[in-house]
Amino acid sequence: MHWYQIENDIITWAPIVFMALLVFFIWRTMKLMPKTKPQEIKPDSKASVGWKEVAGADEAKAELQEVVDFLRDPKRFRDLGASVPKGILLHGPPGTGKTLLAKAVAHESGASFYSQSAASFVEMFAGLGAARIRRLFNEAREHRPAIVFIDEIDAVGGARGSDNNSEREQTLNQLLVEMDGFGSTGDLVVIAASNRLEKLDAALLRPGRFDRQIFVSPPDVGGREAILRVHTHGKPLGPEVDLPIIARQTSGLAGADLANICNEAAIFAAREHRSTIGQEHFEAALERVIAGMQSRKALNEHERRVVAFHEAGHALCAELLPGVDRAHRISIVPRGRALGYTLNLPEEDRYLKTRDELIDQMVMLLGGRAAEEIVFGACTTGASNDLERVADISRTMVHEYAMGTSISSLKLAAEGGAVSDRTRELRDSEQQHLADEAMRRAMRLISEHREQLDGLAAGLLRNEVLERQDIDRVMEGAAPRRQSGAHGLRVVAAERTGTES
Ligand code: ADP
Repeated sequence: MHWYQIENDIITWAPIVFMALLVFFIWRTMKLMPKTKPQEIKPDSKASVGWKEVAGADEAKAELQEVVDFLRDPKRFRDLGASVPKGILLHGPPGTGKTLLAKAVAHESGASFYSQSAASFVEMFAGLGAARIRRLFNEAREHRPAIVFIDEIDAVGGARGSDNNSEREQTLNQLLVEMDGFGSTGDLVVIAASNRLEKLDAALLRPGRFDRQIFVSPPDVGGREAILRVHTHGKPLGPEVDLPIIARQTSGLAGADLANICNEAAIFAAREHRSTIGQEHFEAALERVIAGMQSRKALNEHERRVVAFHEAGHALCAELLPGVDRAHRISIVPRGRALGYTLNLPEEDRYLKTRDELIDQMVMLLGGRAAEEIVFGACTTGASNDLERVADISRTMVHEYAMGTSISSLKLAAEGGAVSDRTRELRDSEQQHLADEAMRRAMRLISEHREQLDGLAAGLLRNEVLERQDIDRVMEGAAPRRQSGAHGLRVVAAERTGTES
């Protein structure tokens, strides 16, 4: 066969082979594409959550009770000419029970519950999000009284124009059209949930849409105890289990975290083949939820020493500073991404913090790095998380609370949005100044209490974990400032003047 014959064959067959491959690829892509057949929308049968399963959100519950009344007997309100809300926006941090509250409203009022996450509207192909909203509302309208619950509404309801996502915009417009389309008859209510109210498009919050907004706050100590009771209900608890103490130790945690702690405690008890869940299982679960799972990182001897002094530095500062909570436990057992940790569990809920307390917090965070520098003359990468948190605190102090060092602080904080280079520079230098001052104080505190630092680090290297009473023993000789009366107070006052000068 001559070479020109082969070339001829190729010229003849190549387009056919090419076409065949093309058809094959088109066929395969079509097979992989999701079926555009509309997914069935059904009410959520899991909405069997009553008010009693939602604990500690009394204000939100009281406001939502009104909605339950409308849904139960809309005629009573209509006859008196009352217009009932169509849209309710629940906003608050994740895990505070927003979904749970919406389900409870449906259950208590006997309404059908249609739940969709707004994120699922925008993941789909162009136009499908809007179509889905239409069908969702059609379906709900046919099964009135009904609740349409839209979770994470910010996924479609973020301020328009902030990006160029036309699919998202179409979906949002369709939602607005639907909400405007039904009258305030009281038998169809849309409940949406969001973690970021400030990000929402103003059009969503107009009268006739989500004009009623309810803040779902993280639970206070009584609320946390009630949530723990809900989630331990029916579980075999040991007689020593003290839920009020666990509630006190979990300040700042949301309902979802508490549910998680109860579940983890049961898992710990089951692993040990116990018949009841003990207080130690709750302690272990709390540690796991806050600090992560124990990991198997093997540190060499030098690394262990560095971590021990780093954590001892945090704990020592926490002992000595009045503005931060003392450590509940220090550990150098690696957990999750952390090589060691100091648990500072607040003893009470706090809603306001003073400037001095925020500065103390920064000093405590920098205590780890300061200890490393003093003991080893060098710092390691271990402090990156601390540094991020210090940067966060100093940024909010300067940008939001006008707590910088100079008189122009107020002006700097008041200027939001786009700022001039000069303002940016001033802000940066204020922030830097706060952080530098905190670092200087941390270095001073630690060098002045070197003996206690060595004591804490030695205890950690020996036992890996120091509990509150062990820390107390090491600190015994140190005359902690918060408890030592006039002398202690004087030292603190001097320290504070030092920071502010
Ligand atoms: P959100 O919607 O605010 O993110 P969820 O309602 O999904 O939070 O809460 C997640 C889980 O946390 C719930 O299923 C429940 O187990 C638990 N939880 C949250 N808040 C509460 C509460 N107030 N009472 C009881 N359980 C709660």
